[in-house]
Amino acid sequence: MKLTYYGTAAAEGVPALWCDCKTCVRARVKGGRNVRTRSQALIDESLLIDLSADTYLHVLSYGLPLHTIDSCIITHNHSDHLYPKELNMRHEGFAHLKDGKPFKVYGMPAVIKTITDSISAALPEMEAYGELELHSIQPYVPFEAGGYRVTALEADHGAPESVFYIIEKGGKSILYAHDTGIFPEKAWEYLEWLGVCFDIVSLDCTNVLLEWDNKNHMGLTGNEQVKKRLESIGCIDSHTRCIVNHFSHNGLAGYDELVPKAAAKGFEVSYDSMTVEI
Ligand SMILES: [Zn+2]
Ligand SMILES: [Zn+2]
Ligand SMILES: [Zn+2]
Repeated sequence: MKLTYYGTAAAEGVPALWCDCKTCVRARVKGGRNVRTRSQALIDESLLIDLSADTYLHVLSYGLPLHTIDSCIITHNHSDHLYPKELNMRHEGFAHLKDGKPFKVYGMPAVIKTITDSISAALPEMEAYGELELHSIQPYVPFEAGGYRVTALEADHGAPESVFYIIEKGGKSILYAHDTGIFPEKAWEYLEWLGVCFDIVSLDCTNVLLEWDNKNHMGLTGNEQVKKRLESIGCIDSHTRCIVNHFSHNGLAGYDELVPKAAAKGFEVSYDSMTVEI
């Protein structure tokens, strides 16, 4: 399996749209990996994770092959993960689809409702023409999406029904855990019961180096705690690639400053267009 990070920032991006803080000024000057867009990732060339406000930018700048992807899992109802109006652009007239396959979106009922409300005028025709399919999911109930076995776990996060995902195929597995604080106990119980040793663990690092209680989001201290507990229940071993991702400019460090600090704790640092193969 291959995981590609297309967007690695929190809601406002890095540099943030309107911000004049030190991290944002530095990101504008240095560019490169210090610049981060809103959250999105892709498994192989097949399974999209989140439909962020920067999806179009990812198509233009990083070659996200949106026109060939037919499955998408959504984590939660924040605009850096779900910008539902873009789904309307898959309707005939806005898009001419050669393969005739529906774009299948999987999310918790709150996510499906947001999409339904946002594109209510076009949705009945889009469903009738086979352009879009909406699938409601439940936590801890595995489902098939794009040929992958996917399981949603409840997150500790501000949007109702926020989840993070386990993605498995062909004996490989990824834990993609954004946006969440230190996991709720129910998620821990499920992980322990499942007993999978992941090939990739990708953790929310929104608050980076900021002192934080690691609720709602994490920083590097929360990532360390989660990594230790995952190791203790056999979900991480020496082969697991542990990656921190989803960063805010408020976290007192850009990419360049964070890399050595994260490496000292056994983490790689994501950047826009980073690819990890397992
Ligand atoms: Zn986010
Ligand atoms: Zn800033
Ligand atoms: Zn969020």
